[in-house]
Formats: sequence, structure tokens, C-alpha cells
Amino acid sequence: MRKKLIVANWKMHKTLAETEKFMQRFPNEIEEVSGIEIVICAPFISLGRLVDLMRGTPLNPGAQNMHWQKEGAYTGEISPLMLKEIGVKYVIIGHSERRKYFGENDVIINKKTTAALNNGLIPILCLGENLEERRSKKTEKVLKEQLYGALDEADPGEEKLQRIVLAYEPVWAIGTGTPAGGDEAADVAGYLRSLLNRKWGALSEKVRILYGGSVNEDNITQFTGKKDIDGALVGGSSLKESSFAGLIKAVFYEGRS
Ligand code: PEP
Repeated sequence: MRKKLIVANWKMHKTLAETEKFMQRFPNEIEEVSGIEIVICAPFISLGRLVDLMRGTPLNPGAQNMHWQKEGAYTGEISPLMLKEIGVKYVIIGHSERRKYFGENDVIINKKTTAALNNGLIPILCLGENLEERRSKKTEKVLKEQLYGALDEADPGEEKLQRIVLAYEPVWAIGTGTPAGGDEAADVAGYLRSLLNRKWGALSEKVRILYGGSVNEDNITQFTGKKDIDGALVGGSSLKESSFAGLIKAVFYEGRS
């Protein structure tokens, strides 16, 4: 049984003071929730403090990016070792905004995914087609290239492979207020699992697959209610304590009904 996972991606939002304010209230707002893994991926500069503030709560800290080398002459970069040292557990890899604005391609994403696994971090690997690719019915082709490209030669071994989290994030749904349909997202998640199955057989059943793209507390259960969708990657709706807590509680109560 795969444990549900809800991940906040704060992107370049929240100062340190705003992070502290969020953490004063948020744990209380989700007090009744259990059995769901919750991760907050904050800007690098707030991560150390976030790790401290999360102690004694069920929350887990995550980064939004990292370099693949342990150290070196890479001005402005943060290494997996640095993240691990301060207690970060998860790292988003290959978000479409990194692909679009910072030139990340499958080769770079492959190095980062492999480095995350080898350094004891859990990579949340983002995959998704853009609008043009969707219109020309290339979604499956694009996802296959992205997934196999990211995992190419990673040969992580069983124990590490099952730690990978995939996030299906159609680019046209991110930040637009127009999510994919629940059935559509479920079909793609099923397709991603079948791709994993072709490479790694039954182990594919252990990998968690998230949906991301304009998820909110009103639509979340359209996704988490599906067989192959194990949670969500949440941008805009994770920024306010009340909306993020509402979304998590919707998943929690759906699981109990
Ligand atoms: C994201 O950026 O990963 C995302 C899903 O954003 P939003 O929820 O705002 O669409």
C-alpha cells in the first residue's frame, strides 16, 4: 500500500519571516490528520530554519532544486550533501520552470536524479507535456522520453528505485487555474507506471506518482481518488495555511469515507 504524499512547492515565495509565520499556525491546522506524508519545498535560504521549525511535527522539509556534484567550482549552486547535512529529505528535480527558464534538459535531470538517490535524498521527478505537445497528441511520447531520459543508466537498485516519486505535471495546467481532468491525469499516471513496469517489473507498484497543476482543496479528491495517483504537487494553493490545510484535510477525510 503506497502512502499518500502531498508536496508543497513554494517556488520563489515567502521570506524567512513569512515562513516562520506560516509554521506558527500550519501544524495546528492539520492536527487531526494522520497517515499522509506532507512535504514543504521552500527556498534554499529558509530551509535550515524550516527544518528546526518542523521538529516534533509530522512535516518534512524539501528543496526545489540542487546540483548533482557533492562540491566544486559551481558558483551559486547547492549540493546534495549540503541539503542532507541540514536535514532536508526531499528534492524536486526537473520542474517545468527549471526546464523552461534555466535550460534544464533530460541529461541534467538524469544527473540530478541519480545524485539525489545516491546521497540519500528522495527525488520528486517532474514530468509533463506542454500545450502544443498535448494538442498534437504527443503526451505519451514526451513522457516516455522524459522518464527514461531521467532514469537512463541510473541503475539505482531496488532499494533506491522505490524511493523515487514521479510528479505528472502537464505544463499547461501549472498556475493556470485549469487542471487536467481526474480521468485524464489517472490515465497518464497509469501510463507512467506501465513505463516503470517495463523497466523494473513489479517494483513499479511501489513508486508513488503525484499529479500537479492547479490543484486546490475543491478539486484534489478528483485526483487522489484514482488508483494510480498517490498524491499531489501543489503550487499556489500551498501558500496560505488555510488553503493548504483544507486540501490535506480533503484527502484525509476522503480516505476515511
Ligand atoms: C507547480 O508549480 O508544481 C504547481 C503544481 O503549481 P500550481 O499548483 O500553482 O499549478
